[in-house]
Amino acid sequence: MRIYVGGLIHETNAFSPVPTQLADYGDHCVSFEDLYAAATASGCEVYRGLCARAAPSAPTGRADYETLRDRLVAEIAARGPFDCVLLSLHGAQVAERYPDCEGDIVAAVRGACGGEVIIGVMLDLHAAISRRLLEQASLVCVIKEYPHTDFPETAAQLVDLALRQRRREISPVTAFVPIPVFSLWHTPLQPSKSLVDEARALEASSPVLHISLVHGFPWSDVPDAGAAVMVTTDGDPDSATRLARDFARRLWDIRDADLGHYRSIGECLDQASLAHPGPLVIADAGDNPGAGTGSDATWILHEVVARKLHNVAMALFRDAEALARVVEAGVGSTVRLSLGGHSGELAGPPLVGDFTVTCINTAARIDAMPGYEPIAVGTLAAVCHGGVQIVLGDYREQVFGTRVFSEVGIDPASQAVLVVKSAQHFYNAFAAFAAKILYCDSPSSRTVDFARLPFRHRRYPMWPLDDCAAGDIPPPVLVATSSP
Ligand SMILES: [Zn+2]
Repeated sequence: MRIYVGGLIHETNAFSPVPTQLADYGDHCVSFEDLYAAATASGCEVYRGLCARAAPSAPTGRADYETLRDRLVAEIAARGPFDCVLLSLHGAQVAERYPDCEGDIVAAVRGACGGEVIIGVMLDLHAAISRRLLEQASLVCVIKEYPHTDFPETAAQLVDLALRQRRREISPVTAFVPIPVFSLWHTPLQPSKSLVDEARALEASSPVLHISLVHGFPWSDVPDAGAAVMVTTDGDPDSATRLARDFARRLWDIRDADLGHYRSIGECLDQASLAHPGPLVIADAGDNPGAGTGSDATWILHEVVARKLHNVAMALFRDAEALARVVEAGVGSTVRLSLGGHSGELAGPPLVGDFTVTCINTAARIDAMPGYEPIAVGTLAAVCHGGVQIVLGDYREQVFGTRVFSEVGIDPASQAVLVVKSAQHFYNAFAAFAAKILYCDSPSSRTVDFARLPFRHRRYPMWPLDDCAAGDIPPPVLVATSSP
């Protein structure tokens, strides 16, 4: 058996102020590495193909996207024939004139290698699932956990299913239900934890092969955006249909379970004055660069300063100009800065004032996703304004761990309040010592106050924006996947 492993990955936020060009695509991605490792572990001959990933941001330009897609397809054609083509894609990639990049990529690969080849696709759960993708692929496996801790496990499942399908040991049939819901679920917590546990238990028994509980990515602003369920069984369309209907209804029933955790800036900061044994951690989820924001929104910062709060630390602000001035001035000096708020209107106004430079680290490394090596981010600085310390950099990455603070001399555990630009991936590292964790819906380009966002292409009806009831969930459709 010969396996090709490739990856073309971008989570696209249509409201992002950050443009995406060919040069923004690097050749490293954790999900690709996990898929490659799983394929290699199978003992088959594996070709390590193209891997291109850009950090979440605005839609990619048409020519740049086509260049990457065509490179992938040309490589598969040139290096083949393969028994299985395994792709790590995001699921919420959008390019100019391509609202469904994943469907387009898989259709192009299918066109190049024909109907006999197994095309297996692994996706993030923040995906927009199209009929086209499901019809052109042989298998689609979506991760189950948010935070995303199960790429290795999902990759191993996909490799196993693809090889079994190629050997004609299984005949996958998939039931698909798009759910009219814009939401998100934190799977380490109830009630979504039970659904994930149950899906895993079902996968361990016949006839279920894989269950995908898709959270969706509303900010991609495409017709396929929204939650969804796919249930793949081994030649049992009735079970697939019944389970897909059941899981879709249960996701619908818990649609506001985690959205309800989000609070306003005022509600979060009201809790700062309460005495906690340990820091209050506030997730600036509205400005989570992991979902394509500019990482320079100042909404919470302004309110912290207005309330004259002390012993507050915030990370990570991307502001190249402010960082350059801080580095030029040096540690111990005071500089006048116009900090943050440069990436667009949704980032809020800059904070103009005097800042004391407390630390500069020219070789800083910050935490990556758990299990992966820290990321070298160049220079990080800490500046102090009133009672708040701000970590400044020229790098856009969400906060995965505490290193972003300790690298610039801030002890996170001794702060009264920590504000992290992240929506959920910070959680495990900070839960270990936080007195309390609050999710703040600041009004930036990843807000969950969906009515604030100028959607142009979304589906109707869609909860919570439209009048919408359980009866609006469509019946499951059986998708005839391409298979030998
Ligand atoms: Zn995701």
